[in-house]
Amino acid sequence: MAKPVTLFICSACGAVHKKWSGRCDACGDWNTITEEAPLSAGPGKTALGAMKGKRIGLTDLRTEETPPPRRTSGMAELDRVLGGGLVPASATLVGGDPGIGKSTLLVAGRR
Ligand SMILES: [Zn+2]
Repeated sequence: MAKPVTLFICSACGAVHKKWSGRCDACGDWNTITEEAPLSAGPGKTALGAMKGKRIGLTDLRTEETPPPRRTSGMAELDRVLGGGLVPASATLVGGDPGIGKSTLLVAGRR
């Protein structure tokens, strides 16, 4: 069995540290690092996966970045699913559960 891992997490910014410190290196706040209970890396459970994350509001995810340029694939339905078309110099993986319509989408869209 894997050795239990103790993590020290900053309550202000969510940064993870291997040891306790009075000051968070990531955000510079003092006295915000708290020790999390030791976690064992059992099956399907990792220290990082089980730890608490920093809560982020959906409004914080807004961005000023312009969306990437799109190039039409020639398949209207595929373009719609991709949000306007293919992004040049990128790879697109079409995935999903069996029977969800991956092949249908790509075959039916061909002209
Ligand atoms: Zn911090």
